[in-house]
Order: sequence, then structure tokens, then C-alpha cells
Amino acid sequence: MSRMRVDQELCILCGQCVEACPFNGVELRADTIEFTDSCRLCRVCIKACPVNAIWLEKAEPVDTVDKGQYKGVLVFAEQRQGRVQPVTYELIGKGLELAGELGEEVVVFLAGSNAASEADALLYYGVDRVYLYDHPALERFRIEPYTALMVDLVNQIKPNIILMGATPVGRSLAPRVAARLRTGLTADCTFLDVKPNGDLVQTRPAFGGDVMAQIITPRHRPQMATVRHKVMPMAEKVSKPHGEVVSCNVDERLLRSGIEILGFKPYQAVSSITDAEVIIAAGRGIGKPDGLDLLGELAALLGGVVGVTRPLVEQGWADYTRQIGMSGRTVRPKLYIACGISGAIQHVAGMRGSDVIFAINTDPAAPIFDAAHYGLVGDLYEIVPAMIDALKKGGGADAVFQTG
Ligand SMILES: Cc1cc2nc3c(=O)[nH]c(=O)nc-3n(C[C@H](O)[C@H](O)[C@H](O)COP(=O)(O)OP(=O)(O)OC[C@H]3O[C@@H](n4cnc5c(N)ncnc54)[C@H](O)[C@@H]3O)c2cc1C
Repeated sequence: MSRMRVDQELCILCGQCVEACPFNGVELRADTIEFTDSCRLCRVCIKACPVNAIWLEKAEPVDTVDKGQYKGVLVFAEQRQGRVQPVTYELIGKGLELAGELGEEVVVFLAGSNAASEADALLYYGVDRVYLYDHPALERFRIEPYTALMVDLVNQIKPNIILMGATPVGRSLAPRVAARLRTGLTADCTFLDVKPNGDLVQTRPAFGGDVMAQIITPRHRPQMATVRHKVMPMAEKVSKPHGEVVSCNVDERLLRSGIEILGFKPYQAVSSITDAEVIIAAGRGIGKPDGLDLLGELAALLGGVVGVTRPLVEQGWADYTRQIGMSGRTVRPKLYIACGISGAIQHVAGMRGSDVIFAINTDPAAPIFDAAHYGLVGDLYEIVPAMIDALKKGGGADAVFQTG
């Protein structure tokens, strides 16, 4: 591991490195300078030292695994109440693409109870193998058994890449699996690619979305990434699956859990903006909370739901579950109507995959028009009521766009 070093003979104990360090990673002791665990190797202290007493001792990079042993893509199939969740098919789609570039296989881990039919259904998405762990104790997601079984499978089949949804389940499971396997994990990826040598290039927003960071895990295997729902397209269904379901023996020792379930309340499906086909999105341009009622009326007529930008959540006008963007939900509806939204990168990151984006904004220079397929420059309080009128009179969406 690289570390900061000090030549204690050159050091004049002036404390300038301590002052300069942004992480409180340097301490001035009685007659020495010491680096603490907070040091981030940022090298600010090197520049601050007036006598050049500090330097960075770089560790030689070493491969900790034989990368050649690791092949293929393993997708974690998330099931809820016995149904495989849509994010799984999106991961399979990306997995097939990555594995195709390397000429390798895509396999799936599925744990559940009476899950054979779901395992068979997964084959229709073109995967090579579904490893099925079928046991009453696996009916619902339980972190310890799921982690133990997944790690056990990974140790047996040695995949090069593991993909999981960035859902509450995936976000809980992925770090535990990564820690047990002592490998890297990149959360919330928005794009994935693979180099010819098998290194996964994991792209995700960083520094508040100002930068798209590309992260690789060059010295560890497997490489693990979580991906948000709706960021990637689903795998196409195939008419004749070629894969097979492998029924795995569930070792009772791996089902042990220190967590006792005292009760269980079934998940109540609520209409989520993530699954909506039409979204009318409100931005700060609505100016007042009542504006949401107007947009709600338009949404109801188009069979859609209302989403919002972050400022509306911050002002308490809407619930966080309605927020679209980098720190909210990612959506991919067929139609996205942005009303009074400027088009900040953090918002666009959550809706740019929509099939058709239609923007209404008074400012012709608003960046939302760069993301939109269609746009109207004007006041939403004139345009939206006109759309509502047109829909009420009949004529559907065509009438609405003629109105514009
Ligand atoms: C780390 C981080 C994460 C973030 N995550 C998110 C996120 O997940 N989602 C998100 O949305 N934001 C997020 N943001 C905030 C983001 O940067 C923007 O501040 C936010 O998206 C702006 O929201 P807005 O477009 O509603 O408001 P504004 O930028 O204020 O835009 C309002 C727009 O309305 C137009 N307008 C005004 N009146 C009317 C009218 N009568 N008719 C039509 N148009 C009108 C204006 O011309 C303007 O373009 C994040 C920021 C940070 C730093």
C-alpha cells in the first residue's frame, strides 16, 4: 500500500503540513510528524512543506488474483413475492452485451421458494444457465443466507463480472458479497463496458453529477457493479432458449441467520413513477404548490403520474418518491412532459432515457430543450390548460400537440 513518508531529520516541525491537510491526516507530535488513518494521500502536505521533507512512497501494483480463472457474467435475479423483478432483465441485457464482447457466458443466480417456473422463464432472455436455489427459507430476501449462497456459488463458478440492481435488496446484498470476496464494487453505474482484457469499465456520476467517473477493478476478481432500474434496456426475449436450469443443493448451514423475523407485512404495491409510461414532471417553474394539481389533471387524462424536480421535494411540495434525477428515481417512460424544468444535469440524468421528451419552458435557452425531442417556449399556465381542454374535447394526444 502506498503511504506518506517524512524525513524526520529534514523536518523542522513547522506544522505547515498539518495546517494544509484538508483531511486532518497529519499530526504534529512532540518531536515528529505522523500520518493518521485519515490521510488520503492527496499530497497537499508535500507542496506545503518548506524543506521538502515529505514524499509519497508508492507501492508496486500487484495482481492479487489469476484473472484468467474468472470468466462470464453472473446476474443476481431479484425476486419479490416470487416474481423476478424487471431490473433483472435489464441486467441480463447488459450482461449479454458484455459477455458477447468477450465470447463468454451469462449465468443467473436465483434464490426463492417454488421458483422453478421463474427460473425457466429467465431462460427465455437468452442466458446460458440459471442456478436455482429453491428452499422455503429463501422465499423472501434474507441477507445472511442470500449472501452465503451467492458467495458459495461465486467461489465455485468464478465469474468475471457480477451485476445486481441498485435496489434496496441489491444495495444491501452487493457490499456484503463484495466484502466476503474481498473485491471491488461500484454502486449505481449508469454505463458499463468491457475492455478486451476483461476489465469492466464502470461509469457512474461523481462529484454531484459534474463528472462521469470511469472506475475499473484491475487487480481483483470478480468485478461487481450495481445498476439502477431503468438505466439500461431490457434483454430481448428469444423464442427458443438454449440455456439450462441448474438446481443447486441448498446447504442448511448456509441458511443460518442471526436475525429472527418477528412478523411479516406484505409489500403493498404502490403506483411508482419508475413504472409509469407517461410522466408529467413539475419543476420550480410551477411557482406554487397548486401547480401540481393542474399537472395532476393532465397526468390523469394521459394515464400518467406526476414527477418532480428536487427543489419541489426540498420545499415540501412533493414526496421524495416522486423526485426524478440523480439523487431520486431514474425513469424511462414512453412520454415525459417537463413543465417549468430548467434541465440541470442532475435532473436530466434521471429521465434522459425516456422515449419522447416534451419540454415547456418560458426560457428559450433552458438546457432542457437540449435533452427534449419537442419543446414549446411559453408559460406552462397557458399551455397546460390548453392541453387539458384539447384532451377533454377528445382527439387524444394529436389534439394536444396541434394545440401547441
Ligand atoms: C448532488 C446533487 C444531486 C441533485 N439531484 C437532483 C435530482 O435527483 N433531481 C433534480 O431534479 N435535481 C437534482 N439536483 C438539483 C439540480 O441541480 C437543480 O437545481 C434542479 O434540478 C433544478 O430544478 P428545476 O429545474 O425545477 O428548477 P430551476 O432550475 O429553478 O428551473 C425552473 C425553470 O422553470 C422555468 N419557468 C419559470 N416559470 C415558468 C412558467 N410559468 N412556465 C414555464 N417555465 C417556467 C424557468 O425558465 C426555469 O428554466 C441535485 C443537485 C445536486 C448538487
